[in-house]
Order: sequence, then C-alpha cells, then structure tokens
Amino acid sequence: MGACAFDLAHYRELLESAQAGAYRWAGFDHEPGAGDLFLRHDVDLSLEAALATAELENELGARATYFLMTESRFYNLDSSAGRDAIRELRDLGHAVGLHAVYPNGKLDERFDPVIAWHNPDPEYMSKPVDGAVNVMQAPWFTKGHYRSDSNAHWREGCPHDELAAGAFEWLQLLVHPEIWVYEGSTMREAMESMLDAKRQEWVEALIDDRIDMA
Ligand SMILES: [Zn+2]
Ligand SMILES: [Zn+2]
Repeated sequence: MGACAFDLAHYRELLESAQAGAYRWAGFDHEPGAGDLFLRHDVDLSLEAALATAELENELGARATYFLMTESRFYNLDSSAGRDAIRELRDLGHAVGLHAVYPNGKLDERFDPVIAWHNPDPEYMSKPVDGAVNVMQAPWFTKGHYRSDSNAHWREGCPHDELAAGAFEWLQLLVHPEIWVYEGSTMREAMESMLDAKRQEWVEALIDDRIDMA
C-alpha cells in the first residue's frame, strides 16, 4: 500500500481495502447493519470529478450515493451536461441524492429520498427531515462509524487499514471527488488543478455556445 495520497491510485486502494474487509456497498434506503459501507459523495464543485470516481467505482463493482446540488455556483444540474451527469451516475449503478442548502430540501424526481446538507451548522445538521433520510441523523451518523476527507484532511486518519481489517462494524465514508480527481498534495493545489481543468471545459462550452474563439 502506498502513502495515503489524495489521488485516484489511492482511492482505488481504498475501495479495494473495503472489498478485502468484505464490506457491502450500502445505500441510505435502509438502516445500518453489520458489514455495511455507506459510500457517500458530496459533489460541491465538479460533476466531471464525480463522473471520474463513479467510473472507477463501477469498474471495481462498488456502489456509492452521489449527492448533487441544485444551488451550486460551480455547476448547473439543469444544463444538458448536468442532466447527462445524473443519467451517467445512474447508469453506472450509483444512487443520487440531494446535496441541499439549508433550509431548501425540496426533492424532485431526479433524487432518491435522501439529503445531505451542504456545510451544515450544528443546530440542524442531524435533525430529521420530512419525507427523506438526512444522512447525518442517527442511526446513519453515529460516533465511531463515520470518516470524512473534508479539505483533504482525514481528521481520524485514512481508513484503508481499518477497512481491510474489517475493523468497523459498519461505516459511513464521505469522499469529495474533487479532492481525489484533481492533482495536488494540499487542498489549494487540488483546487488550482481543478481551475485549470474548468478553464478548458469552459473554453469548450463557449465553442458549443457558438462563441467565436478563433
Ligand atoms: Zn490510506
Ligand atoms: Zn458540500
């Protein structure tokens, strides 16, 4: 096992560790049971990054839940690229939930009835939501059964060894695709790589929009 880099090579190792530990890819349609691994992706910044991790997971037979925003400043789920991304995530075998900005938790037919609040404040983070599972409510969010890579930092350590050893009875694992797909050893570096990629995507979008870029 290599060092715990935030890159796709180690992301593959992380998924393989979960398989070595005989975890089952679980969705938020049922309460946690022994052996469940709830692989959760909050997609804050880039649908392209989400599709990259989704394809890798599909290749390895892993299944995740992708939480997508309808109020993002960084992508538009109502664009053709946004609609294509939802379809591709579903086609790759993943679930799609809503990454909502509090208090706007309005679900529609694009989403399974599951919500993850974006940057939640403690007052409402774990409050139940009408008609949907809030991923940060009990029993899905339970001390000792949660790991997150927020800002390219595992507060409690990268879980690959513990997953391979089957050390968690069950786990909710939050992974932000942008951190792993875009290169860099710090959050700042990964974001600079993402901005470079987005510039190229936007040039293509301008050309698609019949802007003369000659
Ligand atoms: Zn690791
Ligand atoms: Zn978020």
